[in-house]
Amino acid sequence: MSLALEACRDGSETLLHGEFGAYPPKGTRFALSLTWTELHIQRLVPKPDSDHRTVVRLVDVVGCHTLRSHTLTDRSAYFCIYTYPLKKRKVAVGSGRARQRTARTFQVDNAECYAGNQTIAERWAAAIKCLVLGIPISSETEITCSLLPRPRRLLLLLNPFGGKGNALQWCQTHILPMITEADVSFNLIQTERQNHARELVQSISLAEWDGIVAVSGDGLLYEVINGLMERPDWEEAIKMPVGILPCGSGNALAGAINSCAGFEQVLGQELLTNCTLLLCHGAVSPMDLVSITTSSGSRSFSFLCVAWGFISDVDIETEKYRHMGPARFTMGLMVRLASLNTYRGRLSYLPAPDSVAHRPILRSITMSANGSLPFQRMPLHRTISDMGLCEKRHAFSFQGVEPADEPTLSPNSPPSSGFQPPNFNFETLPEGLVADGKGPRLANPTVVTPNTSSTRCIHGPPDHFLAPLDQPVPKSWVTVEDDFVMVLAIYQTHLGADLLSVPFACFNDGLIHLCYVKAGISRAALIRLFLAMEKGTHFEQECPYLIHVPVRAFRLEPLTRKGIITIDGERAEYGPIQGQIHHGMANLITGIEKAKITTF
Ligand code: ADP
Ligand code: MG
Repeated sequence: MSLALEACRDGSETLLHGEFGAYPPKGTRFALSLTWTELHIQRLVPKPDSDHRTVVRLVDVVGCHTLRSHTLTDRSAYFCIYTYPLKKRKVAVGSGRARQRTARTFQVDNAECYAGNQTIAERWAAAIKCLVLGIPISSETEITCSLLPRPRRLLLLLNPFGGKGNALQWCQTHILPMITEADVSFNLIQTERQNHARELVQSISLAEWDGIVAVSGDGLLYEVINGLMERPDWEEAIKMPVGILPCGSGNALAGAINSCAGFEQVLGQELLTNCTLLLCHGAVSPMDLVSITTSSGSRSFSFLCVAWGFISDVDIETEKYRHMGPARFTMGLMVRLASLNTYRGRLSYLPAPDSVAHRPILRSITMSANGSLPFQRMPLHRTISDMGLCEKRHAFSFQGVEPADEPTLSPNSPPSSGFQPPNFNFETLPEGLVADGKGPRLANPTVVTPNTSSTRCIHGPPDHFLAPLDQPVPKSWVTVEDDFVMVLAIYQTHLGADLLSVPFACFNDGLIHLCYVKAGISRAALIRLFLAMEKGTHFEQECPYLIHVPVRAFRLEPLTRKGIITIDGERAEYGPIQGQIHHGMANLITGIEKAKITTF
């Protein structure tokens, strides 16, 4: 293997090298070297005593903008890199490390004229953005903005009542600033009621969007996925990348995405910052869906789990304590343990072939995150957009303020679309600089009108593994009739952001992980299992009451008259229920491929 190729593989190849000033200009100069995974910054002037260099990990970068001075006689161009590295906290909480925003601006002044410096600044910005987005470049690539795709357009659907009701505030303090720095265009719509998101995604023009993101808990994403499956063009529609920014009380999928990126298990704003960072990186991975049918004939598509017994009891009985956030589950767990119920039922399943039901070893890398970011606080309204998109009935009244990345002075400003952006100015540009207009372009105004019809017509591929619910299961299936404490059919690693229930699951392993706990388990053993689940070590206890079977399809027939069944944390009709896997049917925005994460 050539040295260059080897360097390229291990990420150490230098893609760009340059010497720049800093902004604000204090006479300091830096040498910058960009590799596949890192930006190395070495101070040249004043010369430091030691050979110390700052290393910026590109995993922590969300974007890079080019800027120019307000003073038109300044021939320099500038580029600013937005990063969210892990920093030591003053007061140690948890891991003691949290993400903090850092914006570094460099002055390009090597060329005689502004145009020459601008070309260099754009080359650096383009290279950094390519690496953040996973677009392959090498030292031989001629790096220009033309390598970059057009800015992504995301539809953000926000449930203002999810979790502790923080979604709107966190959107303003965490999400919008970061995605603006990442050149992501967006339209944010607050849901007004249950199933609003479901109706919205049924009627939108999908060609307008590169992704639909639920800013809430898992319940809102369940609505989005089923809304897509209710469309006549479901086969295309379900390929639309979907994402989640955790602002609910049940943030299982966000926990799974966070863990898949190799980040340390965190909660709250730290989890949100990690997930927003990943969303900015944008990698998409196929995700299995499970088609669920109930005895009334209803069919829905689930991405997380079907639960019966202990888990669904806790989930639904603590609904009224939503304001407590995820703590509601801990409290509910304790209350339910005190009055432990068992449920009689028949559980049938189609075991997965051995070759696919292996347990891969997980790589665990320790990181943590935090969210207190120094952004301006501006009021957000029901519908907000940087794209001129809004829901007809709730058009946002824009204030007509120039956004920071639409410069007044720059000759590169995009043509006016007649649309006035909202009155938020997240880009904290260094004083005296303006963006040079190479940021996201505004899309043509579109109107999103919700389809208020309440008809549900779920489409989807046929369920080849399933027999109708009123007929016996196929002969190749296994049936267990027993008393259960809980039955959980789960297809993600996480049941909650801090409940690593199936550490060896993958987004698209083609498996339903059927986990059940049989009656007879002591309360102490059950507590031990749940405590161990925080780290995902519960299977190591080899508790004889806990069974795990990887399956392709399952049927659950409750024989106890009363109980609660949930699908993705949402209450479903109580009675016989069955489901089968549909491999890699959806696309999930997971952010960073593991290969890009460097250990440290
Ligand atoms: P949490 O994790 O806190 O449960 P979810 O995203 O799961 O948050 O949402 C909880 C429920 O709220 C879901 O059933 C969802 O469909 C519903 N929902 C969504 N938007 C609204 C709204 N505007 N008002 C009331 N309920 C809503
Ligand atoms: Mg929920």
